[in-house]
Amino acid sequence: MEQQTNLTPKAFLINGEWVSHEQDYFESINPASGQVNYRLSTANHEDVNLAVRTATNAARQSSWRDMLPHARAQILNRMAALITERAEDFARLQMMENGKVWAECKNQAASAAATFRYYAGVCETLGAEVTPSRGNYLSMVAYEPYGVVAAITPWNSPLTMEAQKVAPALAAGNAVILKPSEVTPSAAVLLGELGLAAGLPPGILNVLTGHGATTGKALVEHPGVRMISFTGGTASGRAIGMVAADRIIPVALELGGKSPHIVFDDANLAAAVEGIVGGIFEGSGQSCVAGSRLFVQRSVYEKLLTLLIERTERIKVGLPEDANVEMGPLATFAHRERIEQLVDSARDEGGKIRLGGKRPEQPELQQGAFYLPTIITELNNQNTCVREEIFGPVLCVLAFEDEEDLIKQANDSVYGLASGIWTSNYQRAWRIACALETGLVWINTYKQLSISTPFGGFKNSGIGREKGINGVRIYQQSKGIYWSMDPRSLP
Ligand code: NAD
Repeated sequence: MEQQTNLTPKAFLINGEWVSHEQDYFESINPASGQVNYRLSTANHEDVNLAVRTATNAARQSSWRDMLPHARAQILNRMAALITERAEDFARLQMMENGKVWAECKNQAASAAATFRYYAGVCETLGAEVTPSRGNYLSMVAYEPYGVVAAITPWNSPLTMEAQKVAPALAAGNAVILKPSEVTPSAAVLLGELGLAAGLPPGILNVLTGHGATTGKALVEHPGVRMISFTGGTASGRAIGMVAADRIIPVALELGGKSPHIVFDDANLAAAVEGIVGGIFEGSGQSCVAGSRLFVQRSVYEKLLTLLIERTERIKVGLPEDANVEMGPLATFAHRERIEQLVDSARDEGGKIRLGGKRPEQPELQQGAFYLPTIITELNNQNTCVREEIFGPVLCVLAFEDEEDLIKQANDSVYGLASGIWTSNYQRAWRIACALETGLVWINTYKQLSISTPFGGFKNSGIGREKGINGVRIYQQSKGIYWSMDPRSLP
């Protein structure tokens, strides 16, 4: 099937077959230019039914269910190799759809391949347990797949999130139905194509494109889906969690954040500034772990703010394909409007815009969803911009007096995804890391991530942990088995 024209809506993948609808489609828009990239077919209710039915059947086939782990690992390794081969295509698709700069798109494609390689290794080496016996029997734990897993991903880092879900869910032996964001659907479609080329049996990796309120909702509500893995906003996560509760199926939720980034007066301020700038402005701040609340110890507040403004002024905002550009547009025009409203609310609440707070003026950026890096001061921890996830290049800077004051402010948030601490006092670093209510803590660094370390949030930032060896376990259910060694009948 022809996959790549503007006029024919791109197809989606069910049971190894490409399905498209001439009349029922949505458009992918390039946020750097406002132009239509292409059309994609919308998967409707019947498509969801067909995908779940065929995936259930595929998951039960001996060819997949009984495939030995090293054979499954071989397929995952082939997928890693194919992603590497097509890395530029993945990067280009992402750049066209969410406007991230070329270097970041390329890094994310490389990291997706590494994720598949990692879970191929996990697949080969993962064991199960024989448990201590309390009688004349052998007791053990076997781990089995759920069957059909629905994997739902957001638009900010589509390929990263898709690899993070699909690789461990397949390693665990499930069939996967992937529903990418309507803003960034193409990486998933290409991943589906590569899965078939790598030797996945038809129906083991399916891709349904469409909106969350229709395609996504129909998928999570389908009785044949046995587990949901979701990354996205907290409101959608809550709605999906309620569906999972009603259906009594497990759900992993990776949700939003409002991460505190903390600078003590004994920190290396130059290094901290680099960490703060990367932590909030990379990817135009559209990162769940963005360090969006900056807490600076009062004694170095003015000094750090001056350095921070100087460094941020030098960020080059522009077209994402330009190798010198550090910040591209926001992913959608609607998202820019929301951010503008939030920055207006900061003005209304007494905030002082120290930098940015507006669109850039270069003529070549006028058609795109661009917004300048923005630094706001004079707000307190109760103001809207400090409480709500903005998911954009907006940094709120607050002062703190001492450790007690800092912990009180930093933990005063419904979110608990990530945090960063800059200090040269290692005992203090440890104390603060232990006191912060976040699933991730960076000390004297920020936004360093590896596939081998579990990732996930406290509080409203989510449930469950992806990544790491145990990242496979969220896609498996354990079965306790007792095997009598006693020739006599039970007393
Ligand atoms: P979103 O919640 O709007 O959408 C995410 C996905 O869910 C999309 O594929 C969407 O179509 C689908 N969806 C929406 N409502 C649904 C429903 N009721 N049923 C089924 N599917 C539904 O999020 P977004 O705007 O695409 O992404 C931004 C959000 O994602 C931010 O809040 C960000 O913090 C979060 N995020 C979290 C992490 C993490 O790992 N914690 C990573 C990246 C992004």
